[in-house]
Amino acid sequence: MRLLADVGVDAFRLNFSHGSHDDHKANIEAIRKIEQDTGRSIAIVADMQGPKLRVGEMGDGLELRYGDTVKLRRAEQSDGTDIVHPHVELEQILEPGLILKFDDGKLQVTMISDTEARVDVPGLLKSRKGINVVNKVLPMSAMTPKDERDMQFAMDNGADWIALSFVQTARDVVDARKVIDAHPKAAGTGIIVKIEKPSAVEDLDSILSIADAAMVARGDLGVELPLERVPVVQRRIIRKGRELGKPVIVATHMLESMIDAPTPTRAEASDVATAIYQGADAVMLSAETAVGRHPATAVAIMDRIISAAEGDPILWEYFGQTELPHEGSAEDAISRSVKTIAKTIDAKAVFGYTRTGSTVARISRERPPCRIIGLTPSRRTASQMALIWGTHPVLTSDPTGFDAMAEHVQIIAKDVGLNTGDRILISAGVPFGVPGTTNTLKIDTVG
Ligand code: PGA
Ligand code: MN
Repeated sequence: MRLLADVGVDAFRLNFSHGSHDDHKANIEAIRKIEQDTGRSIAIVADMQGPKLRVGEMGDGLELRYGDTVKLRRAEQSDGTDIVHPHVELEQILEPGLILKFDDGKLQVTMISDTEARVDVPGLLKSRKGINVVNKVLPMSAMTPKDERDMQFAMDNGADWIALSFVQTARDVVDARKVIDAHPKAAGTGIIVKIEKPSAVEDLDSILSIADAAMVARGDLGVELPLERVPVVQRRIIRKGRELGKPVIVATHMLESMIDAPTPTRAEASDVATAIYQGADAVMLSAETAVGRHPATAVAIMDRIISAAEGDPILWEYFGQTELPHEGSAEDAISRSVKTIAKTIDAKAVFGYTRTGSTVARISRERPPCRIIGLTPSRRTASQMALIWGTHPVLTSDPTGFDAMAEHVQIIAKDVGLNTGDRILISAGVPFGVPGTTNTLKIDTVG
C-alpha cells in the first residue's frame, strides 16, 4: 500500500463486500501510518456492500459451459458442480425464466426450474462474484443489517467517506445521514452515492443535491441499464457533480486488462483520459489493484494518463467552456475570481483555508489553472479533500489573523514545492475559526 501511495493514490476504497473487520482495521491503520510517514493526507472510502447479491465460496471457480444445466443452491460452499449463494431473498424468487448475470454481467444463465439454470453466456465463475437479477425487483432494502454493522465499524475507525451501494432514492441518503449524525465521532463523514440503479439515474438531481459526492459505478450500472447508456449517464453525473461542486469518481473496468497484463489496452487508456476530459475528480481501480498482478503499475499508468490529459491545452478549453450556475455567496464570488486572477497573473497555486472543505470544493469546481492547496485544522477534512479535483490537502492549525496568515502560507508554500517568485492566491475567512465565512482573497508572491 505504501508503494501504491508513492505512485499516486489519493484515496483507498475499502470494499466491505469482502474481508473481515479485522482486515479492514489493519488496512485503515496502514493507511493512517502512510499519512503520518509521508505527511500526505489520504482519503479512506468505506464502501458498503448494499443489497448486492454475491455467489458463495466456489473453490477454484466453476467453469460454466454454453448450454449446460447447472444447479443453484443456498449454501456457503460449492461442491464443485453447483453455484452457491447465501441469500434467502434470491432463493425465494428463483423461478423458470428468470435471468441471472454474474461478475458484472460477464456470465449469464436462465433459470429452467426453481433450482436449475441453463448457461447462456459461458465463463469461469469465481468465488464472491456479484449476481444481478435482470428481470425482477428484489425484496431488499437499501441498507442491509450487514451495512449497518459495517457503517458503525467504519465510523468507529474514522473512515472519511461512506459509499452507499445501489442507492435508489434520495430517501436512502437521508437514512444514511441519520446513522452518521447519531454517531458520537462521525460528524462530517461524507456520503458518496454509487449510481448503479436505473431509479438513481432517474432521480439523479435530488440524490446528488443531498449527497456529498458520487460514484459512476459502471460495473453494476452496465448490467442494470443497457450498456450504451453507461457513457451517457457517466457524462451526466460528472456534469451534475461539477455544477454542484461535489466530487465524482469514475469506477470499474478502467484498466481491466491489467488484472493480468502489464500494460492496458489503448481503449482503456483512452477511457481513463475521457473521464478526465469530462471533468471527473477521481478515477478508481478495483480488481486491478485488489486481485490483479500489477497493482502498482496500474496506478502508475493511470497517473501518467491523467497527467498527460491535464497537460493538454484543449482540456483547459473544455473546462473554460462549461457554464456553471453560481450561488449568490461570497464563497462563489471568491472562487470565480480565483480562476480569473490565477489566469491573469499566471499564479502557481491558490491556498484555501477551510474548515469543512466547502470553499476548496467551490474553488476546485471552477477548475483554476493552478494547484489548489487546501489548508485545514480538521484531520477529517484534510483526508476528505484528497478526493477533490486538483487539491493538495495540508493539515495545519489556523493562523491567528490576517498578517500571520501571509507568513503561514510562505512556510507551507516551500513545503509543497513552490519557488521564490511564484505568484500565489490566498482565500480565507477572517477572523479565522468560524466555518462558512470566506470573505478574503489576497494576491501574494512566494518570498
Ligand atoms: P462495486 O461498485 O465494485 O462495489 O460493485 C462499483 C461498480 O458497480 O462499478
Ligand atoms: Mn457496484
